[in-house]
Amino acid sequence: MNAIESASLHFRRAADSLGLTADRRAMLENPSRQIQVEIVVPMDDGTIGNFVGYRVQHNEARGPFKGGLRFHPQVDLGEANALAALMTWKTAVIGVPYGGAKGGINCDPTRLSVRELEKIVRVFIQKIHEVIGPNTDIPAPDMGSSAREMAWIMTEYSKFHGFQPAVVTGKPVDFHGSEGRREATGFGLYLNVRELLRTQNRELDGVSFVIQGYGNVGSHLAKFVAEAGAKIVAIADARGAIANPDGIDLAALDRYVAQSPGRSVAGFPGAQAIDPQDVLTLPCDVLAPCALGGVITPEVAERIQASIVLEGANGPTEPDADTILDQRGIVTLPDILANAGGVLVSYYEWVQNIQHFHWPLERIRHEQERQTVKAFKEVYAEAQAHRISLRRAAFRIAIRKVDAATEHGGLY
Ligand code: GLU
Repeated sequence: MNAIESASLHFRRAADSLGLTADRRAMLENPSRQIQVEIVVPMDDGTIGNFVGYRVQHNEARGPFKGGLRFHPQVDLGEANALAALMTWKTAVIGVPYGGAKGGINCDPTRLSVRELEKIVRVFIQKIHEVIGPNTDIPAPDMGSSAREMAWIMTEYSKFHGFQPAVVTGKPVDFHGSEGRREATGFGLYLNVRELLRTQNRELDGVSFVIQGYGNVGSHLAKFVAEAGAKIVAIADARGAIANPDGIDLAALDRYVAQSPGRSVAGFPGAQAIDPQDVLTLPCDVLAPCALGGVITPEVAERIQASIVLEGANGPTEPDADTILDQRGIVTLPDILANAGGVLVSYYEWVQNIQHFHWPLERIRHEQERQTVKAFKEVYAEAQAHRISLRRAAFRIAIRKVDAATEHGGLY
């Protein structure tokens, strides 16, 4: 099942349970605007590079469009659509005054020079600068992009519109970015799993984790839960997977990854190499997919041994797999709640840019914790009240909020 089918099925099931009429449902489901642009740049070897850039603006009933830019060979309009819709629901669940958007460029950044990548980003912004802006649509990092690209976006956009740091979030901390933004998604995941365990009268101490993906999301999640006493028993990335039932030494792993040519966990001497195919079905308490979407298929769901699935990735669980996890009593902390820490701190960054004021890390962490725990409790209470999954509950809350904003705003 592709990403768009998956995202819309999650939406439809929740919309059904709310009894939403067909006209309102269409209005909430269809994207507001879909943009596709050609990006032509000179490559270092003298050839011409042809790329395609996308931006899908899904919904703006609650505020400006907001969402990341993915740099990956598989990016296409369908995936951008699905991920843009997830952003609409995510910003609503976590309670930031934004709509949802997503975009990307179909390139493999690991095969591009910095010069080529910068040119691609600048041409992309030249093509879309008229439809983004601090009050219109605010991009951010996603898979394959980071603070460096966000800085280029800021300066390229500002060339046309004057100094506009609030047009993009996830910028370098010393270049109009925010403290705590880089770790924000991992910190939010940690808060969510901590809160869920507390509802079961458990703490993180001694809880075992398997993490798929060791990029910005997976690596920070590992660090926060390990600090709270959890044990990371296996980690996989695009190049390999490692396991150690006694717990992986993260400080040693980070030193290893920093000097390994592919920046991969593969070959780490403090753990055994395992088949990356097996990682999702290893015995553990918490399974955290923090990489690509669609990895938990129905077949995988039948074999998962964890009791909690913590969705660091966007759309990692197919809808039919979701049903199987529910039936098996495995609790899923859904993407639109669990990984909302990134966009939450993006919001704090945007607020700081608008105020021309820099908040200290303690303030970011305090606000993030307060707002994340509140969102978790709302979703948990909805799930308990209606005896439904946390995903269904999160979607119901999000849909109600966006629907209410549409009602207040009227048709214009
Ligand atoms: N790309 C991140 C996400 O999927 C962050 C988006 C943002 O900060 O706008 O939630």
